[in-house]
Amino acid sequence: TAKKNGKGTFVVADDQMIEKFDRYRQLEKDFIYHLENKEIFPYFQPKVELETEKIVGVEALARWIHPEEGFIPPGVFIPIAEKNEVIADLDFLIAESAIKSLKTWIEEGIVGDDFNLSFNISVKTLEGLDVYDHIENMLKKYGVPGNRVQIEITESIFINNIQKVLYEMNLLKERLGISIALDDFTAGHASLKGLGVLEIDTLKFDRSLLQIVKENVDKGQRIYSTLIDLSDDMGYISVAEGIEDAAESEFLKKEGVKYAQGYHFGRPMPENDLVAVLINERSELKLKKNTCSESE
Ligand code: C2E
Ligand code: MG
Ligand code: MG
Ligand code: MG
Repeated sequence: TAKKNGKGTFVVADDQMIEKFDRYRQLEKDFIYHLENKEIFPYFQPKVELETEKIVGVEALARWIHPEEGFIPPGVFIPIAEKNEVIADLDFLIAESAIKSLKTWIEEGIVGDDFNLSFNISVKTLEGLDVYDHIENMLKKYGVPGNRVQIEITESIFINNIQKVLYEMNLLKERLGISIALDDFTAGHASLKGLGVLEIDTLKFDRSLLQIVKENVDKGQRIYSTLIDLSDDMGYISVAEGIEDAAESEFLKKEGVKYAQGYHFGRPMPENDLVAVLINERSELKLKKNTCSESE
């Protein structure tokens, strides 16, 4: 437990460091165990149409509730999954579980024909596995059409095998009708390069852009607005991420952004809660319709 420091001398790791390291090792072991046991599952965050605030779809986000440590954020376990080369297992587990849920919602009439499900697939997964085959099998198994599904990929500077990524993406699009979103736009390291090579349908604007607006309203709004123009020019569908209040929502609506996600509209939530929200929304819509027809 000796560690070389910058000056070329050795320092002995103190108890706290060792404890932290041991705890992290244990967390890694626990993660792999829980993943194998399929004890990691999706939460669902609503995606709304800004104009109507109607829910048009959901994004599935991986959740790990550790029996002792409680909620461990993806920011902690995604790197563990990548480091231990089980990120594809995680991606497919969440994808299959979410597709299965979508199937149920369709069957039970909880969602309409245009309701769309998104999930995240790591670039590492696209590089290493036959994602098209896996997803095709899942869709077949549950009888869900590919055009109800969107795959979100976060561009990374670590793409080694861009040809494989493009190959899988094209199969998913052309053969299954799955749409592709570029996630975390401008939060990555080379997002403009990504736009140059990837065939995407949707651009998801990262929350960090709204933080720029918060820090410097005039400059921030001009930057955001210009990026929306870029997205429009390229023929992409724009989705704004991380809307936390009405002012942010108003700004994006004014800029012509069609779709949004954020705590302002709904947090990521367990399936049961989402279903309750969806049922409630549908009954409210019905109520409105009935009220209208009564006054006719
Ligand atoms: P992401 O795909 O960009 O997902 C959006 C993140 O923003 C989620 O964080 C969500 O909880 C958070 N968020 C939503 N609305 C707001 C808001 O109004 N304010 C703020 N501050 N945050 C908001 P989460 O769930 O912690 O996930 C973090 C990232 O982990 C995701 O970012 C995604 O890149 C990754 N991830 C999650 N699940 C999976 C998975 O199954 N596979 C892979 N490969 N990555 C995943
Ligand atoms: Mg995402
Ligand atoms: Mg995102
Ligand atoms: Mg993001």
